[in-house]
Amino acid sequence: MTNLSNREITLNRTVPVYDTADVVVIGGGPAGTAAAICSARCGRKTILLEHSGQLGGMGTLGNVSVFMGIGNVTGIYREIISEFLPAALPDSHHESIWPQYSPFELRHYLNGKLEKEGVEVYYHVSFVSSIVEDNRVVGVVANTREGLRAFAGRVVIDCTGDARVAQDAGVPTKAGRDEDGLTQPMTLMFMMQDTGKPVRQKLPDDCYKYESIPDLPQGRHLFWGGMGDGTLLVNMTRVKGNGAKIRDINYAEKESLRQALSVANYLQRTNHPNHILSHVPGQVGVRETNQIEGRYTLTEDDLTSSRRFEDVVAQTNYEIDIHNPTGGANTDERKLDGYDIPYRCMLPVNIEGLIVAGRSISATHVAMSSMRVQATCYALGQAAGVAAAIAIETGASVADVSIPTLHQRLSEQGVVFAKQHAR
Ligand SMILES: Cc1cc2nc3c(=O)[nH]c(=O)nc-3n(C[C@H](O)[C@H](O)[C@H](O)COP(=O)(O)OP(=O)(O)OC[C@H]3O[C@@H](n4cnc5c(N)ncnc54)[C@H](O)[C@@H]3O)c2cc1C
Repeated sequence: MTNLSNREITLNRTVPVYDTADVVVIGGGPAGTAAAICSARCGRKTILLEHSGQLGGMGTLGNVSVFMGIGNVTGIYREIISEFLPAALPDSHHESIWPQYSPFELRHYLNGKLEKEGVEVYYHVSFVSSIVEDNRVVGVVANTREGLRAFAGRVVIDCTGDARVAQDAGVPTKAGRDEDGLTQPMTLMFMMQDTGKPVRQKLPDDCYKYESIPDLPQGRHLFWGGMGDGTLLVNMTRVKGNGAKIRDINYAEKESLRQALSVANYLQRTNHPNHILSHVPGQVGVRETNQIEGRYTLTEDDLTSSRRFEDVVAQTNYEIDIHNPTGGANTDERKLDGYDIPYRCMLPVNIEGLIVAGRSISATHVAMSSMRVQATCYALGQAAGVAAAIAIETGASVADVSIPTLHQRLSEQGVVFAKQHAR
């Protein structure tokens, strides 16, 4: 019998290979959906493994429902706006838009989009382990509805937001601020709906009775009513912790719901007596967890000095935006003129066959606070998908992909880089 008293077991299992592809993408958020579409468009068989039952990541699962402006509406993000929110499409690739959207409609749109592009999406499939051979990631083992299954690929793209695949493959990661490792807090975003008449107000006994703005978890009102249909999208809860840690997320799921019910009640008692709580997503929103150690690490200085890079793959002027990691009420917001994100931030320092796209790229705590928004993650995903395809076509390692070729292929897919950024 296995002795569990030493707090460790060795797992030795034979696992069937369920599918084999050129490119295996793990995580179907902004980065993962873009990576999968753009790799498939390069003619590569692409599969995407998603832990939940939906695509869109925090943008749908976490009910984020607003695209922050990055001074750039280009490439796959531009295409998504043109199809999904055509009224918001700007003439130029280099303007900022801040559209609010229905997360349910985005989820449906992305299902259809990936199907049309020929990407096989596996829902309810959770990454378990990287398969590494000769210092190269050649596939993953995942938990499926039918048990553990392996998925093999020539290039693997980690878009889990938490760098789960990279960590498991032995890539060093860092989390949070240098001084204490604290990450940005988590937030359960919810919706309220105007019913046109006063609603029943109910505050469960173990919730908070907020009386004024300074009592609120973020010390401010933060909501959007831009849909024009009486919905209010509320971003006003705040729970300290790292969403990639078991105990922190356990606490956050319960505490963020307690805060959501309390904030909704506060809004009903103050300016929104006719609004009912109409949608609470199934999970708390996670802003920041792990960053890989990559071949280049994006820093605060890169952002504030508007640094440009030869191997640029995404551009943004979204501000430094740090919700207080201690859970305190303030938010550090600093405007930026715009900067480049280099391809090397997506390349793990010590392993081949793996690209990491989205919010867990190699960046400091301050730098990730700006690059983490959805439009930038779509851009990074697009570059990762195209780079993976080029690596396969040319037989190069992902680290040796020709940057002029990458730029050429991105341009063919509608990406236009700017020298200057618009606010
Ligand atoms: C509360 C909050 C408010 C925000 N507000 C805005 C905003 O207003 N505008 C904006 O543009 N951005 C906003 N953001 C930021 C933005 O939503 C995220 O940074 C962005 O979605 C990150 O994209 P991603 O693809 O890197 O990761 P994510 O969106 O986190 O997606 C990761 C995906 O991987 C899947 N996954 C994770 N682990 C596994 C696994 N083991 N196996 C398989 N799949 C896995 C997840 O289910 C998820 O679908 C906000 C974020 C939060 C949390």
